[in-house]
Amino acid sequence: MDAKGKVILEKDAYHAIIVSCYRFANPSIMKSKWAEVQGILYGYNKDGIVHVTRAVPLAHLSSVAVEMDDNDYVLVAELEGEMASHDLFQVGWFHSHPGIKLFLSLEDVKTQAGLQAPNPLAIALVFNPIYLMERESDFGFKIFRLDDPSTIEIKFHEIPWEIAGTGDGFLKESKMLMHGVQRFLRGEGVFDTIQSRLDKTYKKMNSEIFGLKTYLQNKKKTATTEEIFNSFTKHKARIEKLFNKKRESIDIQVMLLDYLELKEMLQYKDRIDEIREEWKAYKQTFTELLMDVEKTIFDST
Ligand SMILES: [Zn+2]
Repeated sequence: MDAKGKVILEKDAYHAIIVSCYRFANPSIMKSKWAEVQGILYGYNKDGIVHVTRAVPLAHLSSVAVEMDDNDYVLVAELEGEMASHDLFQVGWFHSHPGIKLFLSLEDVKTQAGLQAPNPLAIALVFNPIYLMERESDFGFKIFRLDDPSTIEIKFHEIPWEIAGTGDGFLKESKMLMHGVQRFLRGEGVFDTIQSRLDKTYKKMNSEIFGLKTYLQNKKKTATTEEIFNSFTKHKARIEKLFNKKRESIDIQVMLLDYLELKEMLQYKDRIDEIREEWKAYKQTFTELLMDVEKTIFDST
């Protein structure tokens, strides 16, 4: 068989793969604790070309083979229904080989045979995050098909691929995303960590602003209007700078919530929506609170 059926990946599908895999295998985690991640590729086939529009991470395991439990299969069945309503179906699967080369093991061949027998264009994407991070111009993955899905011989070939609509900066952008993962999305329990970081930020910023208001109100009793104004300007700039720094990191964290595993996505769905709304609203609130200080201090004289 020849390498027919080239693959076109959407950018966001690629990002879902690399984020979910790097989360469990990056330099901030001990190498002995690195875990393989497995997920499903959704999309459609058209004119012999496989279009991957979504990648959904399912599970991670520290053992060599990634396995799914019964509950996962129920979730997957539900997801399948949702995708079908968008005319998308499973076009393949992905998994990571953290720190090891890209190939299909015997287990991988079995999984792939199950997909490729009914759908000859089905693909297996294997990603090694270390290749992406340490090599110069390497996206870190390969896509394979079995030469013959009716046997479980370990014979497979590489399929050419491209990532749709990417320019020169895409690889760099992807690596930046990975740095965000290493800082904010490593391992388990990330959802609670991100939520508590947000709560802390709201508290911290509110207390900075409230502190400034109290401070200026007291200062007003003895200082001149000019002194008050200078002090306000100085502290306002300081607080804004602090907020901008936090905003940058929280924007990344909120964005990374798009790439949680299926189970987490379903478990936290409402809370994730809430977090997004809350964060969006708080950016506005922050500006209003500062304006309110200005008003309180300068209008009532
Ligand atoms: Zn494998």
